[in-house]
Amino acid sequence: MMEVAPNIFKIELPLPFKLDHVNCYLLRGKSGWVIIDTGLNFPCSTEIWQNVFKNMGLKYVDIEGIYVTHYHSDHYGASGWLQELTGAPVFMHRTESAFVDQMWKKGRVNIPVVGELFKENGMPPNLMNEVLDNIVSVFNYIQPHPSLLLLSGGEKVDMGGRTFDIIHTPGHSDGHICFFCESDGLLISGDHLLPQISSNIGLWPASHPNPLELFLSSLEGIGRLPVELVLPAHGSVVTDCPGRVAELLAHHQQRLSRIADLAGAGTTAYQICSKVFGTDLTLHEIRFALTETLAHLAYLESKSEVYSRQESGIVIFRRAQ
Ligand SMILES: [Zn+2]
Repeated sequence: MMEVAPNIFKIELPLPFKLDHVNCYLLRGKSGWVIIDTGLNFPCSTEIWQNVFKNMGLKYVDIEGIYVTHYHSDHYGASGWLQELTGAPVFMHRTESAFVDQMWKKGRVNIPVVGELFKENGMPPNLMNEVLDNIVSVFNYIQPHPSLLLLSGGEKVDMGGRTFDIIHTPGHSDGHICFFCESDGLLISGDHLLPQISSNIGLWPASHPNPLELFLSSLEGIGRLPVELVLPAHGSVVTDCPGRVAELLAHHQQRLSRIADLAGAGTTAYQICSKVFGTDLTLHEIRFALTETLAHLAYLESKSEVYSRQESGIVIFRRAQ
């Protein structure tokens, strides 16, 4: 645990994925403490929470609120467990609560819909079944579910003795939120802005049809804020926020032109994905790689730079002439 800004502590929790950690934040205020993001509900991670409480001399009742930046398992996973322990309210954007219902609570019902998307985009059936089983295996880490209080973005909240604006930053997920404290130039960015890696922007069956467009415009929005220190959900702090925003915008432009080139005279999203991301991916990574490819193709199609057609049940993308 590290104090990354006065009264803000970073807690790095392990993840059983290739991206092997998530940063959660604990904010100390006069009347109580606030948690931002929770990790997965599995023993290596919940033991760390217990140790943090013990070492900081924190009682469960000292936790005033738990904020979750978005519904993905590594952020939302232990929120129900923490709520049972502390009795604190759990806040999340209202759009994310719909994803929790669809992806996590009715997840097994939803799985064939995800499979359909992968299949029509050219993923080999054997691999698809393994990828779907891998998604189901994550469900164990995201129980119990908390009762949620819903946010819309635009609220001002008092956390750890500072006032933060809640900013809706769709893209990585439709209801992703960041927390911005203007007086201190502090941005708690979740997965919206990351230092060493680019956030996964994926097209899923229930997501917005053009998540990359949403992401690029909400990233530009963050780039215009007077931010001095970014506290991200993975990796180390960022001091040059506008510089990092510019790098990420350029990265997506490069990826867009590469993907448009690869679409060429006609191919599947899966084939493009294998060329962009390689074939040496874990089951956990393959789904993000394919949905990321689909998000870029959807963006290109919205700009009439590629077009798609179903041919014998498979979607073929072609570069516009
Ligand atoms: Zn995420």
